[in-house]
Amino acid sequence: MQPPRTPADWFHLAERAYSERHQACAWCGGAYRVHLARQGAKHTFRCQQCDFQVTFDAQNDDYHLVPGEDLSGVSETMLEKPIADLLRK
Ligand SMILES: [Zn+2]
Repeated sequence: MQPPRTPADWFHLAERAYSERHQACAWCGGAYRVHLARQGAKHTFRCQQCDFQVTFDAQNDDYHLVPGEDLSGVSETMLEKPIADLLRK
């Protein structure tokens, strides 16, 4: 078992995934889905796919983590979705 990651760990992971892997998400691993928002001293990485969100407030040296959803069956769901849409028509 690895020790649980702190919000600070997650922020650094998110930062690295974002810059090194085409706006990838540190939580669910997918690329082109993370949005970086800057609000004053606050930097927030937010994933549109799994709702993972991590904020660093440089002014208060404070990290805040919102865990993402568990997306381990998502590829199945995504494959099924177009079929479900077709059946509805
Ligand atoms: Zn994600």
